[in-house]
Amino acid sequence: MREISPYFFQQIRQDSSKSARKIEPQEKEVLFILHDQLNLAIFPQQILARKPKLVIVESSAYANFIPHHQKKLAYILSAQRHFAIECVAAGYQVLNLFTMDSYAQALRELLTENPQLNLTYMQPSEWDTRQAMTQLKLDFAPRVSLIANTFFLADLAKFQNKIAKGYRLETFYRQMRKSTGFLMQGDQPMGGKWNYDQENRKKLPKAEKIPAIASILPDQITLEVMAEIAEFFPRNFGVLAGFSYAVTREQALGLAQQFISERLAKFGDYEDALKEGEPFLFHSVLSLYLNNGLLLPGELCEMAIAAFKEGIAPLNSVEGFIRQILGWREYMRVYYEAMMPGVRSSNHFGFKLNLPQMYWNGETKLACLQSAIASVIQHGYSHHIQRLMILSNFSNLTFSDPAQLNQWFWFAYIDAYEWVELPNVLGMAVYADGGILASKPYVSGGNYINKMSDHCGNCAYDVKQKTGEKACPFNYLYWNFVDTCRQDFAENGRVSLMANMYDQKSEAEKQEIKASAQAFIQNLARR
Ligand code: FAD
Repeated sequence: MREISPYFFQQIRQDSSKSARKIEPQEKEVLFILHDQLNLAIFPQQILARKPKLVIVESSAYANFIPHHQKKLAYILSAQRHFAIECVAAGYQVLNLFTMDSYAQALRELLTENPQLNLTYMQPSEWDTRQAMTQLKLDFAPRVSLIANTFFLADLAKFQNKIAKGYRLETFYRQMRKSTGFLMQGDQPMGGKWNYDQENRKKLPKAEKIPAIASILPDQITLEVMAEIAEFFPRNFGVLAGFSYAVTREQALGLAQQFISERLAKFGDYEDALKEGEPFLFHSVLSLYLNNGLLLPGELCEMAIAAFKEGIAPLNSVEGFIRQILGWREYMRVYYEAMMPGVRSSNHFGFKLNLPQMYWNGETKLACLQSAIASVIQHGYSHHIQRLMILSNFSNLTFSDPAQLNQWFWFAYIDAYEWVELPNVLGMAVYADGGILASKPYVSGGNYINKMSDHCGNCAYDVKQKTGEKACPFNYLYWNFVDTCRQDFAENGRVSLMANMYDQKSEAEKQEIKASAQAFIQNLARR
């Protein structure tokens, strides 16, 4: 990689108002690369063969529209800048634009000032950027060309119109296994089963040693980005210090290899486990690299399958990991494409209360929530079960507005882009779409958390008590939720049992549940 001076990009920025002059009159073609499309191998070879000038835009409007976690901004910008330098090293000319406005506006100015110029772009994954780019394409027709987004494995056209008709993950996943051939023996699943979920719900034994994830020390470019974030976004969510994520494809591949050799083997067993002070457990922590193109979904599946064949990891772990990437991740994208933009305002239960204040500062006596939020504030990350069964569960049980939770997940997580974050929050986690994505609301009481974690032993509340001031709030909030939203329980085969169980409680117990829940919900500090 080329040596660059400190504050290299600041110098470019000072010059950015003159960016149009960096296009020579004889230059006719540019290729726009978005911040989440950082992998030239995915772009069509016939376009790359012409060596178009690459346009990379740093948009202050994108950085500002929600208070993204400071580490997320640092990650996005640093990865983008490293990518720009790598492209120069690979023989491309790169035009870096800095704009206070949107990506599309920066490109609009570029095209206006250079009437000879044609621009090609890949379909953006996120809705708003896509809409703005579509408008640009219309306004500058025929100078702007669109290419399909090939960062995903699923063929959208095949699945998109099935989602609203109740096309669920399991059927989709099996189709994807068949079409890719991943973990298949002919037309049958390797090992005879499609799904090893039953084996993947173990509580973490106390003595289990969790291998550390390698820290990547920030280089000069990342340090420069961090200084800019500290200066321009000091009040954004989260902690900037201690940034140690990968910012190049090479580094991300190194972390993927480390995951495969050190953690994949136990990924399956402890996929649903929670442990105090262990934010990563046996998870891969690779979503952020997948979501901006540094890593590709197909190559990660292939690495995991190779690990199975070499005896490095058992089938329950490898299938579990592939189910997440080939199944859930792809399914979420299809769901987003099928459901936008209406799904943004979905609110099946009609919850209107503001999100609790603790989501911003982590101040709560509930150990499980405290641990999950501390991890998000520090790392911009918490693992799936914390997202689903702690943070989303609590938001739902306290009748919080799903749109606010959705926005919180979008800015607070380093891997959050709307196409993947929204389906997970509104579809999977809080049932805001009324059951299009998930077959039941993902709510639970304290017992589930106690079974899967060691949090309850360190908590100010008592998970064994069902009601009253000392009782674990998840307990009475859960039954209060079952009663309040009973229609969704009573009519749903999978969970109607819970409504029946509530009905069988004594009147006195029901009253205690209601009183405890009301007091807790009323006294909860909210935004
Ligand atoms: P691992 O547990 O190691 O899983 C491997 C990979 O599988 C992940 O890197 C990810 O790419 C993929 N994956 C697993 N589950 C899902 C899923 N449900 N949807 C999509 N991909 C999945 N994922 C994001 O990438 N961005 C988000 O903004 C995001 N928001 C979420 C919000 C909520 C409320 C919930 C319940 C889940 C969310 N997820 C999101 C999905 C999942 O929690 C994360 O992908 C995962 O925790 C990332 O950590 P990891 O890389 O260690 O994942």
